[in-house]
Amino acid sequence: MGRDRDQHIVIVGGGTAGWMAAAALARLTSARVTLVESDAIGTVGVGEATIPQIRLFNRGLGIDEAEFLRETKATFKLGIEFAGWGAPDTRYMHAFGTIGHGAGLLPFHQYWLRAQAEGKAEPLGRYSLNERAARALKMQMWPAKPGQPAPDMPWAYHFDAALYAAYLRRHAEYHGATRIEGKVAAVGRDSESGDIASVTLESGQAIAGDFFIDCSGFRALLIEQELHAGFEDWSHWLPCDRAIAVPCATMGDFTPYTRATARSAGWQWRIPLQHRIGNGLVYCSDDLSDDEAEATLLANLDGEPLAEPNRVRFTTGMRQRQWVGNCLALGLSAGFMEPLESTSIHLIQSSIARFLQMLPNGRPAPALVDEFNRQAAFEWHSIRDFLILHYRANGREGEPFWDRCRSMDLPATLSAKIEQFRASGYIHREHEELFTEPGWLQVFVGQGVLPDAYHPLADAMPSVDLERMLADIDRGIGGIVDSMPGHAQFLRAYCMPGGKP
Ligand code: FAD
Repeated sequence: MGRDRDQHIVIVGGGTAGWMAAAALARLTSARVTLVESDAIGTVGVGEATIPQIRLFNRGLGIDEAEFLRETKATFKLGIEFAGWGAPDTRYMHAFGTIGHGAGLLPFHQYWLRAQAEGKAEPLGRYSLNERAARALKMQMWPAKPGQPAPDMPWAYHFDAALYAAYLRRHAEYHGATRIEGKVAAVGRDSESGDIASVTLESGQAIAGDFFIDCSGFRALLIEQELHAGFEDWSHWLPCDRAIAVPCATMGDFTPYTRATARSAGWQWRIPLQHRIGNGLVYCSDDLSDDEAEATLLANLDGEPLAEPNRVRFTTGMRQRQWVGNCLALGLSAGFMEPLESTSIHLIQSSIARFLQMLPNGRPAPALVDEFNRQAAFEWHSIRDFLILHYRANGREGEPFWDRCRSMDLPATLSAKIEQFRASGYIHREHEELFTEPGWLQVFVGQGVLPDAYHPLADAMPSVDLERMLADIDRGIGGIVDSMPGHAQFLRAYCMPGGKP
């Protein structure tokens, strides 16, 4: 029983995934942590929008939020605006947090659906504090006045990915992690178990370890090239296979939300940071050439480009097994889904959390490895379905890419979800599923997937109560948003050392 010695965990790769793993393991476990990264290869250099769960990760590492915002040139993020997905001239927001509030037996949206049918409801976003604050370019995380409750407003961040990795590196090294620069040229295996025993650098230096974490990016050096974990390809559902990214100058105040604008054969992201805006076009190479993609992106920037465009090719899907023997894949080596809902960094975080729960004591037990892989597959599949919904429910008629997306076959799990919502507005979230009911609701409604009927019990509320409830929520949110400072003003004051607005 018990550990006879601390394990040595070797991380291959020093992008966001590698340094998140190193920072967490160095801080939270007694393992000896070594990270190998190659300056010559570098990192993918994108990945700047997050979802609120990132705050749990940072908190777990004991990170001070104001310092983090300063160091990574971050801004706050209250949601994602989708422009041109329902139809070219429409926009809606997937805002974090709740919509309306509990109203008896049913979720709020059932009463909203009834009011909508009766012509008494405002658009859904009017009942979301996050959306209203985002659209007003406001932000505040604590009570407007002493004695009042803090606004119930989950937030995430946009940050500079390179600065975040550098910041985490300082944390990891402070807690004892060792960094070795060099390119892994060979992998040594244990002849009996088949486990990875060591990695050898081009310099000839061999690094032996008990456990290996593959953070080598799309190369998937250990998990695929060495262990052949297999890849589940989802490009028939998510056909975009390339991206081109370019930062541009900031013009005016920064929005506290990401924007995803549908284009002729893909979509463009806009991620506002303190010092620049991150932009990129995700597209399908069957429908758009690389030159056309670059021209589209450069024609749709807020300010002057600040660097040469960065081109990335990818295949959407996931590793069939993300954990094999004594090797765990994290980040791009585990698989890739486009950043439409900013989920990749979260998937790194959730895998680290799951791994810590199952932290092996010596050789990993196959039952734990299997359970890890089952949970990961469930999480990835449910995110995949959510992304597919955006494509399938598009309203961009007459554009070949989007016409194809509207008629594609769906995974059975997503078909069932859409049918359930259409039947009576029913949305069910399984345990471990990332996206919440309000998340699904906003995409359904925002892209014109509406139920045939609302829940029959919504009729039990007297009309006068229904109208009063909606008006109260609308007015209450309006009052909170009015009292908030502007996002840029709040951020500047909060980021000043010791500063609080
Ligand atoms: P990388 O950054 O590629 O790092 C790989 C590391 O492995 C590097 O340090 C490299 O030097 C090292 N390496 C490779 N081979 C060797 C070797 N032989 N020897 C030694 N070292 C080696 N995620 C989000 O959450 N939000 C977003 O908005 C978002 N946008 C994205 C946009 C695009 C176009 C893409 C492609 C991804 C996006 N992502 C986003 C995903 C996000 O960028 C990644 O999840 C994240 O950066 C993690 O990357 P990584 O660390 O796995 O890989």
